[in-house]
Amino acid sequence: MIVVMKAGSQDKEIDVVMDRLHALGLQGHLSKGVERTVIGVVGVTSAMPDLRERLELVPGVSEVVPISKPFKLSSREFEPEKTVIDIGGVRIGGQELVVIAGPCAAETRDQVMSTARTVKAAGASILRGGAFKPSTSPYSFRGLGEEGLKLLAEAKQENGMPLITEVLTPQDVDLVVKYADILQVGARNMQNFILLDEVGQARKPVMLKRGLSATIQEWLLAAEYILAQGNRQLILCERGIRTYETYTRNTMDISAIPVVHKETHLPIIADPSHATGKWDLVMPMALASVAAGADGLMIEVHPTPDTALKDGAQSLTFDHFGELMKRVAPVAQAVGRTMAGSKQKKA
Ligand code: PEP
Ligand code: MN
Repeated sequence: MIVVMKAGSQDKEIDVVMDRLHALGLQGHLSKGVERTVIGVVGVTSAMPDLRERLELVPGVSEVVPISKPFKLSSREFEPEKTVIDIGGVRIGGQELVVIAGPCAAETRDQVMSTARTVKAAGASILRGGAFKPSTSPYSFRGLGEEGLKLLAEAKQENGMPLITEVLTPQDVDLVVKYADILQVGARNMQNFILLDEVGQARKPVMLKRGLSATIQEWLLAAEYILAQGNRQLILCERGIRTYETYTRNTMDISAIPVVHKETHLPIIADPSHATGKWDLVMPMALASVAAGADGLMIEVHPTPDTALKDGAQSLTFDHFGELMKRVAPVAQAVGRTMAGSKQKKA
Protein backbone atom coordinates (compact mmCIF):
# COMPACT_ATOMS: atom_id res chain seq x y z
CA MET A 1 0.00 0.00 0.00
CA ILE A 2 1.02 3.62 -0.31
CA VAL A 3 0.46 6.36 2.23
CA VAL A 4 -0.31 9.59 0.39
CA MET A 5 0.58 12.65 2.48
CA LYS A 6 -1.49 15.86 2.39
CA ALA A 7 -0.08 18.69 0.27
CA GLY A 8 2.24 20.73 2.47
CA SER A 9 2.64 17.98 5.09
CA GLN A 10 5.57 18.48 7.43
CA ASP A 11 8.71 16.37 7.69
CA LYS A 12 7.88 15.53 11.28
CA GLU A 13 4.52 14.11 10.18
CA ILE A 14 6.34 11.93 7.65
CA ASP A 15 8.67 10.82 10.46
CA VAL A 16 5.68 9.78 12.56
CA VAL A 17 4.37 7.57 9.73
CA MET A 18 7.83 6.07 9.24
CA ASP A 19 8.17 5.35 12.97
CA ARG A 20 4.72 3.70 13.10
CA LEU A 21 5.63 1.45 10.18
CA HIS A 22 8.95 0.58 11.72
CA ALA A 23 7.29 -0.33 15.02
CA LEU A 24 5.02 -2.73 13.11
CA GLY A 25 8.00 -4.42 11.46
CA LEU A 26 7.26 -2.77 8.09
CA GLN A 27 9.42 -0.65 5.83
CA GLY A 28 8.48 2.80 4.56
CA HIS A 29 9.99 4.05 1.29
CA LEU A 30 9.65 7.78 0.84
CA SER A 31 9.06 9.35 -2.54
CA LYS A 32 8.87 13.14 -2.64
CA GLY A 33 7.54 14.03 -6.08
CA VAL A 34 6.69 17.41 -7.54
CA GLU A 35 2.97 16.70 -7.25
CA ARG A 36 2.78 14.59 -4.12
CA THR A 37 4.67 12.91 -1.31
CA VAL A 38 4.00 9.23 -0.82
CA ILE A 39 5.36 6.51 1.42
CA GLY A 40 5.44 3.02 -0.05
CA VAL A 41 4.76 0.40 2.61
CA VAL A 42 6.41 -2.98 2.17
CA GLY A 43 6.43 -5.98 4.43
CA VAL A 44 3.90 -8.54 5.54
CA THR A 45 0.68 -6.63 6.16
CA SER A 46 -1.78 -9.49 5.84
CA ALA A 47 -2.03 -9.94 9.63
CA MET A 48 -2.98 -6.27 10.10
CA PRO A 49 -6.44 -5.89 8.58
CA ASP A 50 -7.01 -2.46 10.16
CA LEU A 51 -3.62 -1.02 9.15
CA ARG A 52 -5.11 1.16 6.46
CA GLU A 53 -7.65 2.78 8.77
CA ARG A 54 -5.03 3.29 11.50
CA LEU A 55 -2.57 4.99 9.19
CA GLU A 56 -5.29 7.27 7.85
CA LEU A 57 -5.69 8.65 11.39
CA VAL A 58 -2.08 9.86 11.53
CA PRO A 59 -1.88 13.68 11.17
CA GLY A 60 -0.66 14.77 7.73
CA VAL A 61 -1.91 11.62 5.98
CA SER A 62 -4.34 12.24 3.13
CA GLU A 63 -5.20 8.66 2.23
CA VAL A 64 -3.88 5.11 2.20
CA VAL A 65 -4.21 3.30 -1.11
CA PRO A 66 -3.58 -0.41 -1.62
CA ILE A 67 -1.21 -1.26 -4.50
CA SER A 68 -2.92 -3.95 -6.50
CA LYS A 69 0.24 -5.27 -8.20
CA PRO A 70 2.61 -7.75 -6.54
CA PHE A 71 5.52 -5.44 -7.40
CA LYS A 72 5.22 -2.30 -5.32
CA LEU A 73 8.19 0.07 -5.32
CA SER A 74 8.76 -0.33 -9.05
CA SER A 75 5.10 0.37 -9.85
CA ARG A 76 3.69 3.52 -11.39
CA GLU A 77 1.21 3.59 -8.51
CA PHE A 78 4.07 4.24 -6.08
CA GLU A 79 5.98 6.56 -8.39
CA PRO A 80 4.06 8.01 -11.34
CA GLU A 81 7.04 9.97 -12.66
CA LYS A 82 9.69 8.17 -14.66
CA THR A 83 12.99 7.58 -12.89
CA VAL A 84 16.00 9.18 -14.52
CA ILE A 85 19.40 7.91 -13.41
CA ASP A 86 22.35 10.23 -13.73
CA ILE A 87 25.66 8.46 -14.19
CA GLY A 88 28.36 11.10 -14.30
CA GLY A 89 26.23 13.32 -16.52
CA VAL A 90 24.84 10.50 -18.68
CA ARG A 91 21.11 10.37 -17.97
CA ILE A 92 19.30 7.07 -18.45
CA GLY A 93 15.51 7.27 -18.61
CA GLY A 94 15.27 10.84 -19.85
CA GLN A 95 14.76 12.23 -23.31
CA GLU A 96 18.13 11.10 -24.59
CA LEU A 97 18.80 7.66 -25.99
CA VAL A 98 21.85 6.18 -24.29
CA VAL A 99 24.07 3.67 -26.05
CA ILE A 100 26.17 1.29 -23.98
CA ALA A 101 28.80 -0.54 -26.03
CA GLY A 102 31.95 -2.60 -25.67
CA PRO A 103 33.19 -6.15 -25.76
CA CYS A 104 31.42 -9.08 -24.19
CA ALA A 105 34.55 -9.75 -22.16
CA ALA A 106 37.79 -7.90 -21.53
CA GLU A 107 40.49 -10.04 -23.17
CA THR A 108 43.59 -7.90 -23.79
CA ARG A 109 44.63 -4.29 -23.20
CA ASP A 110 44.63 -3.58 -26.93
CA GLN A 111 41.21 -5.11 -27.46
CA VAL A 112 39.66 -3.14 -24.61
CA MET A 113 41.34 0.19 -25.42
CA SER A 114 40.67 0.10 -29.17
CA THR A 115 37.05 -0.91 -28.67
CA ALA A 116 36.43 1.80 -26.07
CA ARG A 117 37.96 4.51 -28.28
CA THR A 118 35.96 3.38 -31.30
CA VAL A 119 32.57 3.14 -29.60
CA LYS A 120 33.10 6.50 -27.92
CA ALA A 121 33.99 8.15 -31.24
CA ALA A 122 30.87 6.64 -32.82
CA GLY A 123 28.65 8.15 -30.10
CA ALA A 124 28.33 5.53 -27.34
CA SER A 125 28.09 7.08 -23.87
CA ILE A 126 28.80 4.13 -21.57
CA LEU A 127 31.44 1.42 -21.85
CA ARG A 128 30.52 -2.21 -21.21
CA GLY A 129 32.75 -5.23 -20.73
CA GLY A 130 32.82 -8.31 -18.57
CA ALA A 131 35.58 -9.40 -16.21
CA PHE A 132 33.54 -12.03 -14.35
CA LYS A 133 31.65 -13.99 -17.00
CA PRO A 134 28.76 -16.33 -16.35
CA SER A 135 29.22 -19.27 -18.65
CA THR A 136 26.91 -22.07 -19.66
CA SER A 137 29.96 -24.29 -20.15
CA PRO A 138 32.72 -24.47 -17.53
CA TYR A 139 35.20 -24.86 -20.39
CA SER A 140 34.54 -21.52 -22.05
CA PHE A 141 36.24 -18.24 -21.13
CA ARG A 142 35.21 -17.06 -17.67
CA GLY A 143 36.84 -13.65 -17.68
CA LEU A 144 40.07 -12.08 -16.45
CA GLY A 145 38.71 -11.22 -13.01
CA GLU A 146 40.25 -8.15 -11.35
CA GLU A 147 42.82 -7.87 -14.13
CA GLY A 148 39.91 -7.35 -16.54
CA LEU A 149 38.37 -4.73 -14.25
CA LYS A 150 41.68 -2.83 -14.31
CA LEU A 151 41.77 -2.82 -18.11
CA LEU A 152 38.18 -1.63 -18.29
CA ALA A 153 38.87 1.08 -15.70
CA GLU A 154 41.81 2.31 -17.75
CA ALA A 155 39.64 2.52 -20.87
CA LYS A 156 36.90 4.26 -18.91
CA GLN A 157 39.41 6.82 -17.65
CA GLU A 158 41.01 7.46 -21.01
CA ASN A 159 37.68 7.99 -22.77
CA GLY A 160 35.70 9.66 -20.01
CA MET A 161 32.97 7.01 -20.19
CA PRO A 162 31.16 5.47 -17.23
CA LEU A 163 31.64 1.70 -17.01
CA ILE A 164 29.09 -1.07 -16.61
CA THR A 165 30.31 -4.55 -15.73
CA GLU A 166 28.77 -7.70 -14.33
CA VAL A 167 29.00 -8.77 -10.72
CA LEU A 168 28.61 -12.51 -10.48
CA THR A 169 28.53 -13.26 -6.77
CA PRO A 170 27.60 -11.45 -3.55
CA GLN A 171 31.23 -11.76 -2.41
CA ASP A 172 32.44 -9.81 -5.47
CA VAL A 173 30.21 -6.77 -4.95
CA ASP A 174 32.76 -4.78 -2.89
CA LEU A 175 35.46 -5.37 -5.48
CA VAL A 176 33.34 -4.56 -8.54
CA VAL A 177 31.94 -1.42 -6.88
CA LYS A 178 35.49 -0.02 -6.82
CA TYR A 179 35.73 -0.09 -10.62
CA ALA A 180 32.20 0.09 -12.01
CA ASP A 181 29.73 2.94 -12.34
CA ILE A 182 26.85 0.53 -12.94
CA LEU A 183 26.66 -3.00 -11.54
CA GLN A 184 25.20 -5.48 -13.99
CA VAL A 185 23.22 -8.43 -12.68
CA GLY A 186 23.18 -10.99 -15.47
CA ALA A 187 20.25 -13.01 -16.76
CA ARG A 188 21.44 -16.17 -15.03
CA ASN A 189 21.49 -14.36 -11.72
CA MET A 190 18.13 -12.62 -11.96
CA GLN A 191 16.78 -14.73 -9.13
CA ASN A 192 19.96 -14.94 -7.07
CA PHE A 193 18.20 -13.27 -4.18
CA ILE A 194 21.29 -12.92 -1.99
CA LEU A 195 23.05 -11.08 -4.82
CA LEU A 196 19.98 -8.89 -5.33
CA ASP A 197 20.00 -7.96 -1.63
CA GLU A 198 23.70 -7.21 -1.80
CA VAL A 199 23.56 -4.91 -4.86
CA GLY A 200 20.46 -3.34 -3.28
CA GLN A 201 22.68 -2.26 -0.42
CA ALA A 202 25.40 -0.92 -2.69
CA ARG A 203 25.29 2.78 -3.36
CA LYS A 204 25.77 2.31 -7.09
CA PRO A 205 23.29 2.10 -9.96
CA VAL A 206 22.33 -1.44 -10.93
CA MET A 207 21.16 -2.87 -14.25
CA LEU A 208 19.06 -6.01 -13.84
CA LYS A 209 18.83 -8.25 -16.88
CA ARG A 210 15.73 -10.32 -17.51
CA GLY A 211 16.21 -13.99 -16.68
CA LEU A 212 16.40 -16.54 -19.47
CA SER A 213 12.94 -17.88 -18.75
CA ALA A 214 11.51 -15.15 -16.57
CA THR A 215 8.07 -13.67 -16.97
CA ILE A 216 7.85 -9.90 -16.73
CA GLN A 217 6.26 -10.27 -13.31
CA GLU A 218 9.12 -12.43 -12.02
CA TRP A 219 11.58 -9.90 -13.38
CA LEU A 220 9.83 -7.00 -11.67
CA LEU A 221 9.69 -8.94 -8.41
CA ALA A 222 13.46 -9.46 -8.70
CA ALA A 223 13.77 -5.69 -9.22
CA GLU A 224 11.71 -5.26 -6.08
CA TYR A 225 14.43 -7.01 -4.04
CA ILE A 226 16.93 -4.32 -5.05
CA LEU A 227 14.50 -1.44 -4.49
CA ALA A 228 13.41 -2.84 -1.12
CA GLN A 229 17.02 -2.60 0.07
CA GLY A 230 16.88 1.12 -0.59
CA ASN A 231 18.69 1.28 -3.94
CA ARG A 232 16.48 3.35 -6.24
CA GLN A 233 19.03 3.62 -9.02
CA LEU A 234 17.77 0.67 -10.95
CA ILE A 235 17.68 0.02 -14.69
CA LEU A 236 16.03 -2.98 -16.37
CA CYS A 237 17.44 -4.74 -19.43
CA GLU A 238 15.52 -6.90 -21.91
CA ARG A 239 17.96 -9.42 -23.39
CA GLY A 240 15.68 -12.02 -24.91
CA ILE A 241 13.99 -15.04 -23.42
CA ARG A 242 14.03 -18.75 -24.10
CA THR A 243 11.30 -19.96 -26.43
CA TYR A 244 10.91 -22.95 -28.73
CA GLU A 245 12.67 -21.01 -31.49
CA THR A 246 16.26 -22.10 -32.11
CA TYR A 247 17.16 -19.95 -35.12
CA THR A 248 18.06 -17.13 -32.77
CA ARG A 249 19.93 -17.51 -29.48
CA ASN A 250 16.92 -16.12 -27.63
CA THR A 251 13.65 -14.52 -28.66
CA MET A 252 13.72 -10.78 -28.17
CA ASP A 253 10.58 -9.66 -26.37
CA ILE A 254 10.17 -6.17 -27.80
CA SER A 255 6.73 -5.93 -26.19
CA ALA A 256 8.42 -6.03 -22.77
CA ILE A 257 9.64 -2.48 -23.44
CA PRO A 258 6.22 -0.76 -23.53
CA VAL A 259 4.97 -3.10 -20.78
CA VAL A 260 7.81 -2.02 -18.48
CA HIS A 261 7.03 1.63 -19.23
CA LYS A 262 3.35 1.09 -18.56
CA GLU A 263 3.78 -0.79 -15.29
CA THR A 264 6.90 0.80 -13.83
CA HIS A 265 8.80 4.05 -13.55
CA LEU A 266 12.15 2.35 -14.21
CA PRO A 267 14.30 2.92 -17.31
CA ILE A 268 14.76 0.03 -19.72
CA ILE A 269 17.72 -0.82 -21.94
CA ALA A 270 17.43 -3.24 -24.87
CA ASP A 271 20.23 -5.72 -25.54
CA PRO A 272 19.77 -7.05 -29.09
CA SER A 273 23.21 -8.73 -28.98
CA HIS A 274 22.28 -11.39 -26.44
CA ALA A 275 18.67 -11.43 -27.58
CA THR A 276 19.56 -12.55 -31.10
CA GLY A 277 23.04 -14.09 -30.82
CA LYS A 278 23.66 -13.14 -34.46
CA TRP A 279 25.48 -9.97 -35.47
CA ASP A 280 23.37 -9.36 -38.57
CA LEU A 281 20.17 -9.32 -36.51
CA VAL A 282 21.52 -6.82 -33.99
CA MET A 283 20.84 -3.73 -36.12
CA PRO A 284 17.19 -4.46 -37.02
CA MET A 285 16.34 -5.41 -33.44
CA ALA A 286 18.16 -2.32 -32.14
CA LEU A 287 16.05 -0.13 -34.43
CA ALA A 288 12.87 -1.91 -33.36
CA SER A 289 13.76 -1.50 -29.68
CA VAL A 290 14.31 2.22 -30.06
CA ALA A 291 11.04 2.54 -31.96
CA ALA A 292 9.28 0.64 -29.14
CA GLY A 293 10.54 3.14 -26.57
CA ALA A 294 13.76 1.69 -25.12
CA ASP A 295 15.72 4.24 -23.08
CA GLY A 296 18.95 2.88 -24.46
CA LEU A 297 20.76 0.05 -26.19
CA MET A 298 23.50 -2.29 -25.07
CA ILE A 299 25.62 -3.56 -27.97
CA GLU A 300 28.59 -5.94 -28.03
CA VAL A 301 31.50 -4.81 -30.18
CA HIS A 302 34.83 -6.51 -30.89
CA PRO A 303 37.82 -5.56 -33.10
CA THR A 304 37.86 -9.08 -34.59
CA PRO A 305 34.66 -10.97 -33.75
CA ASP A 306 36.02 -14.14 -35.37
CA THR A 307 38.74 -14.41 -32.71
CA ALA A 308 36.61 -13.23 -29.75
CA LEU A 309 36.87 -15.44 -26.67
CA LYS A 310 33.18 -14.92 -25.99
CA ASP A 311 30.06 -14.07 -27.98
CA GLY A 312 31.90 -13.42 -31.25
CA ALA A 313 28.90 -14.47 -33.34
CA GLN A 314 26.82 -11.60 -32.00
CA SER A 315 29.58 -8.99 -31.76
CA LEU A 316 29.67 -6.12 -34.23
CA THR A 317 32.88 -5.04 -35.95
CA PHE A 318 33.89 -1.39 -35.53
CA ASP A 319 32.47 -0.59 -38.98
CA HIS A 320 29.18 -2.31 -38.30
CA PHE A 321 28.85 -0.48 -35.00
CA GLY A 322 29.43 2.87 -36.75
CA GLU A 323 26.74 1.95 -39.24
CA LEU A 324 24.33 0.98 -36.46
CA MET A 325 24.83 4.34 -34.74
CA LYS A 326 24.06 6.17 -37.97
CA ARG A 327 20.90 4.15 -38.56
CA VAL A 328 19.67 4.47 -34.97
CA ALA A 329 19.78 8.29 -34.90
CA PRO A 330 16.83 8.96 -37.27
CA VAL A 331 14.69 6.29 -35.53
CA ALA A 332 15.47 7.90 -32.17
CA GLN A 333 14.50 11.25 -33.63
CA ALA A 334 11.25 9.83 -35.00
CA VAL A 335 10.21 8.82 -31.48
CA GLY A 336 11.21 12.16 -29.97
CA ARG A 337 14.66 11.35 -28.68
CA THR A 338 18.13 12.70 -29.25
CA MET A 339 21.31 10.64 -29.11
CA ALA A 340 23.09 11.09 -25.77
CA GLY A 341 26.59 10.70 -27.20
CA SER A 342 26.29 13.41 -29.87
CA LYS A 343 26.88 16.19 -27.33
CA GLN A 344 30.00 14.50 -26.03
CA LYS A 345 31.31 13.85 -29.52
CA LYS A 346 31.26 17.52 -30.40
CA ALA A 347 32.92 18.57 -27.14
C1 PEP B 1 26.57 -10.10 -20.95
O1 PEP B 1 26.02 -8.98 -20.91
O2 PEP B 1 27.69 -10.29 -21.42
C2 PEP B 1 25.81 -11.29 -20.49
C3 PEP B 1 26.43 -12.36 -20.03
O3 PEP B 1 24.49 -11.15 -20.62
P1 PEP B 1 23.26 -12.09 -20.12
O4 PEP B 1 23.37 -12.12 -18.64
O5 PEP B 1 22.08 -11.32 -20.63
O6 PEP B 1 23.42 -13.41 -20.79
MN1 MN C 1 28.12 -11.45 -23.96
